[in-house]
Amino acid sequence: MSIYNDDVFQMACDQFKVIADYLEIPNNDRDRLMYPKRAVAVTLPIHMDDGTVQTFQGYRVQHHLTLGPTKGGTRFAPSLSMGETAALAMWMSWKCALANLPYGGAKGGIACDPTKLSTKELEAVSRRYMQEMIPFVGPHTDIMGPDMGTNEQVMSWFMDTYSVYQGYCVNEIVTGKPVSIGGTEGRREATGRGVVYLIERAMDMLKLDPAKCTAIVQGFGNVGSVAALSLAYKTGVKVVGISDATVALYNPNGIDVAKAEQHVMKKGNLRAFTEADRVDPNEMLTMPCDVLVPSAVDRVIHAGNAAKLKCRILAEGANGPTTPEADLILNERWDDVFVIPDILCNAGGVIVSYFEWVQGLQAFMWSETEVTDKLFRILEHSFTQVIKRAKAHKVSHRTSAMAIGVERVMKAKHARGLFP
Ligand code: GLU
Repeated sequence: MSIYNDDVFQMACDQFKVIADYLEIPNNDRDRLMYPKRAVAVTLPIHMDDGTVQTFQGYRVQHHLTLGPTKGGTRFAPSLSMGETAALAMWMSWKCALANLPYGGAKGGIACDPTKLSTKELEAVSRRYMQEMIPFVGPHTDIMGPDMGTNEQVMSWFMDTYSVYQGYCVNEIVTGKPVSIGGTEGRREATGRGVVYLIERAMDMLKLDPAKCTAIVQGFGNVGSVAALSLAYKTGVKVVGISDATVALYNPNGIDVAKAEQHVMKKGNLRAFTEADRVDPNEMLTMPCDVLVPSAVDRVIHAGNAAKLKCRILAEGANGPTTPEADLILNERWDDVFVIPDILCNAGGVIVSYFEWVQGLQAFMWSETEVTDKLFRILEHSFTQVIKRAKAHKVSHRTSAMAIGVERVMKAKHARGLFP
């Protein structure tokens, strides 16, 4: 399956093999559980503002269709490849199954740097991407959502392009839309809120007093900024480190996260925010704190720094932030670092996307309180199951979480047969 050749895809496969060995999955089942059901690559020519035509590459991977339609975000990032998209789709499968959502995993995106495109160019490439995807997606086939580099506006263009083609309004083709066109209350905050709910649960288990705890949050996008704000102002944790793609900042006395957020709203990034010391972004991860929240890109916790982490809780807001080599080290440190694995930790986003899809299909509107209550209930259930299994089987939280997801998908495949 050389089209998926990529380090991130290899990592997702290596993680799967650990689970397949632990669950003693027969060889007959392994490849069909691991490899994506479908993968589509599209070429997207658009008119640039300077009059030239530039061509972008787009992808969509649908990992399995066994439990319902596929579901997953759309990433706009310069280095995006088919392999990385496939890895992210596989992780979505285990994430959705762990939360008991009636979905297979998917992921898609465009290899582009959205910060270097004008609004007009971004609209053109977004609409062209959805137009090319029309034969492959649908409210009962594959539902897109937001991911790194995309936002409510991009989801609106997707929804509009699909609806124009159908000739009527199809809200439920995309989630993460603005509330004004059928989005749900609480979707934008859902991932960060979920991350913090689970951190609070972990603190509770470890008997840590939030008022005496510090946190470092890597990434200041939709996940990291909401997590940092919520940790600081709801949980009462002192946030001592924050970062984005331009800078890493540290202040042992605590960072004014609300001010940092206002700065980003005005300037677009944290680069010129002066109320903390600049530190090396890699070193920030190994600075002392109680809670470390990697919520940016994959593979930032690796064999080279896992032994040096000085946190008590590692809450994985990003997808795939920890490599399997780092896992081996963290498994030894189970008594010292409490890992909340990505497919549990950042599941809040897709759970509330599921609520948005359900509301769209039924033309219902739920209040933000309803949404958040239902979100926490699902996360509570997943968290309890993951901890219980990890304790009973003496396995890591990641193994426990992934095993619950993989087992559900395998059971459904056995019940249905070879088709999906
Ligand atoms: N991008 C989010 C994730 O990685 C969720 C996408 C969605 O809501 O479909 O979980």
